[in-house]
Amino acid sequence: MVTLVPVHRQEDLNPFDIAQSQLDEAAAILQLEPAVHAYLREPVRELHVTLSIRMDDGSSRIFKGFRVQYNDSRGPTKGGIRFHPEETIDTVKALAAWMTWKCAVVDIPLGGGKGGVICNPKELSTNELERLSRAYIRQVGRIIGPEMDIPAPDVYTTPQIMAWMADEYSIIKGQNQFGVITGKPLPLGGSKGREDATARGGLYCVREAAKVLDFDTQGATMAIQGFGNAGQFAALLGPELLGTVTVAVSDSQGGIYNPDGLNAADVIAYKKQHGTVVGYPNAQPISNADLLELKVDILVPSALENVITSENAHCIKAKIVAELANGPTTPEADKILYENGVYVIPDFLCNAGGVTVSYFEMVQNAYGRYWSEKTVHERLNEKITNAFHAVHDRARNLQVHNRLGAYCVAVSRVAEAVQLRGWV
Ligand code: NAD
Repeated sequence: MVTLVPVHRQEDLNPFDIAQSQLDEAAAILQLEPAVHAYLREPVRELHVTLSIRMDDGSSRIFKGFRVQYNDSRGPTKGGIRFHPEETIDTVKALAAWMTWKCAVVDIPLGGGKGGVICNPKELSTNELERLSRAYIRQVGRIIGPEMDIPAPDVYTTPQIMAWMADEYSIIKGQNQFGVITGKPLPLGGSKGREDATARGGLYCVREAAKVLDFDTQGATMAIQGFGNAGQFAALLGPELLGTVTVAVSDSQGGIYNPDGLNAADVIAYKKQHGTVVGYPNAQPISNADLLELKVDILVPSALENVITSENAHCIKAKIVAELANGPTTPEADKILYENGVYVIPDFLCNAGGVTVSYFEMVQNAYGRYWSEKTVHERLNEKITNAFHAVHDRARNLQVHNRLGAYCVAVSRVAEAVQLRGWV
């Protein structure tokens, strides 16, 4: 007699498998032509580079890096560069795919790309970081350019790193080429309003979500996982734009919680001084896992992928999940959240403010004319509000969750461009 042993199926957490399975679901709904579907499942180009860096102690260290151009049917590819010790080619491919859908969902004339270097920037000196940034551009410089592929900041890369990269590319070309990269400091052609654009765009989405859900954001509680560029600005701007109260924030070392609210500026100053939010006075410690399950109105994942999975999705108590991070929710978790009535604002809509203002930066660089902060905010607001309602309406009409609605809006635009160009 055969004894049956129960097998616990492991959820597939490979980000590129997830990106492909999300596309597959949308392709089925859209009844995409099989060849178009197959074409959109893969990046058109990927480059692997090996970088040798002279360290401050005179030794040499070897780093691996990538640049992926996923699809450029609607315009040059665009996407950030991540410096992270756990970077993988599959993460970069997934992020490049999501960039493609992101640019399409906000309807800007760009395709999707992404780059990364496997490194821990926290262990590098400023000089080593500069040498690494410049070496990366010397290798990927042959496939990027203002009309080809335009990088930007992402996790653990900063405006200063963008400045070194723009400078290195300009040296290679023998002339200033600031349009090769966005997220630059203002004196080098950066755009006003770029710094807080990702969080601002996400909060505009929350504002619109609150309208369709008939929910008042004044005094609504918010928990933020990840306290970097995206998370810090969400905490700072939430009270100003929506009247929210941030009760918990976290970073890679842990989190802090105060049900009466945290002062964002104060916590940012503390993190600047101590390198982490952990230990901040007037708050109790909380783990990253527990933060996600807090009973708050708005949960804002702003760190990395795969934090809401089939394991913990049942425990999410927030009314709205505003995904500033890329890929924080797995497909199985998506279904659970939808069934439980949690309103998810999917990543490539919720965090599209960053690339939208990066696109504004490209336009300003091309014309050599710079806009006021007010103009940037107004144009961002218009783009994000339109995109939000296109997604919400599509999801409601199809009776699917918002991520699938967003995929249907974005994929149909990219598929149309691919077919109009006669590629498939
Ligand atoms: P960042 O480097 O400024 O901040 C990342 C934050 O996440 C840091 O506080 C870090 O401590 C924290 N973190 C890292 N690992 C963690 C872990 N295991 N648990 C909890 N916290 C952890 O990066 P960012 O630019 O704010 O990006 C955050 C997310 O937002 C990423 O998914 C990124 O792709 C996405 N995003 C950023 C932008 C942008 O304009 N910066 C645009 C679109 C999407």
